[in-house]
Amino acid sequence: MTDKDSSQKEPAAAAESAEAALKTIIDGFLHFHREVFPQQEELFKKLATAQTPRAMFITCADSRIVPELITHSSPGDLFVTRNVGNVVPPYGQMNGGVSTAIEYAVLALGVHHIIVCGHSDCGAMRAVLNPDTLEKMPTVKAWLRHAEVAKTVVHDNCNCATEAESMQVLTEENVIAQLQHLRTHPSVASRMASGQLFIHGWIYSIETSEIRAYDAERDCFLPLDGTLPTPSATPKGRF
Ligand SMILES: [Zn+2]
Repeated sequence: MTDKDSSQKEPAAAAESAEAALKTIIDGFLHFHREVFPQQEELFKKLATAQTPRAMFITCADSRIVPELITHSSPGDLFVTRNVGNVVPPYGQMNGGVSTAIEYAVLALGVHHIIVCGHSDCGAMRAVLNPDTLEKMPTVKAWLRHAEVAKTVVHDNCNCATEAESMQVLTEENVIAQLQHLRTHPSVASRMASGQLFIHGWIYSIETSEIRAYDAERDCFLPLDGTLPTPSATPKGRF
């Protein structure tokens, strides 16, 4: 979490660049409202009163990850929850936004898939590796304790030679850890047991746009390249 922000600029320059950033966002909205929306009015009319998303997508808040873009999805297709580090707190530890969204997606919307998607160059993973950088961010530090399990697994089992290698292994282990946390949620556990819900662990590369998916049977990440069988993080249903 070492990214510089505009608060480090001179106040006048910061105000100017903040104003320009907001203008760009509003101009973008106006373009959408006037040009894009009319072309898809039928879709939005259909979505006005109901949603039946294909999947729940849990990913990092990082601005470079755009779930709808990388899955070529439309409005209404994905039920998205984002947070720093694509974290899923274990059930019962925190009745916050992620747990609420999971319960709603599974029980109210009846989604059949939950995808936990980490990514390359994740600031949250870098912070987990270098906790000193979080000294002035107590809330981020507290949140990322849910990734502590991944850090310990890497620390105890991996002789990573470089920070890049540590980052890659930690990012993978974090996705696996969050999938395990996901399974502690009763709604998820129950629907998985009956074979109605499938969970997936992905890692998206910002530089290449490739995705690697966790395969529970082979216990490794494999390229998501359309070859069958698709890597799956879901054990067989028991009922
Ligand atoms: Zn991230």
